[in-house]
Amino acid sequence: MLWDDFMKSDYHDWRGSGHSEDRLDKPGWLEQWLAIHNLPYPGTPSAKELDDLRWLRGHMLRIVQKLTVHESAAPADLEGLNRALSGGPMFLRIAESDADYRLESIPLRAGWSRIGAEVAASFGRILTECEPSRLRICENPDCMAVYYDETRNRSKRFCDDKACGNLMKVRRFRARQKAAKTGVTTSES
Ligand SMILES: [Zn+2]
Repeated sequence: MLWDDFMKSDYHDWRGSGHSEDRLDKPGWLEQWLAIHNLPYPGTPSAKELDDLRWLRGHMLRIVQKLTVHESAAPADLEGLNRALSGGPMFLRIAESDADYRLESIPLRAGWSRIGAEVAASFGRILTECEPSRLRICENPDCMAVYYDETRNRSKRFCDDKACGNLMKVRRFRARQKAAKTGVTTSES
């Protein structure tokens, strides 16, 4: 989804090196993210446009943090989403191909404010049309990536089972091994 890929711009090394970076500062990253979602790259964002994107990301993160502990989103954060939406007004139009009809939304504005509105709309659809109770924060404390749990039994604990899931399994295994070793030493002494 557009919104959760956008959240990945706030990168923390999930392997625990402590390295983190804000990929919004990397034009190459932004360009690639938009290309994946078939959106035009409006060029390197200005300082103000970057600030707006960072604010939007902060609002979305705080909403997810609230929802994952079964609290309601703060009005200020919803207001932030609405502000981003108002930056990219659009109109609807009916398109037809081979007797198939679909509603298309046509943006009235180009540029980063329109991208911000698309991101807010993508996240807004989770809140309004999906199940917000499926929003999660990865349980790897070095990662904390945000995602939407699509598993049937709502049991997804990590953003990526192959990466964070495996790493945490290895860490638990090592902790158990260490505890067992300490146990042996204690009984011997
Ligand atoms: Zn993770």
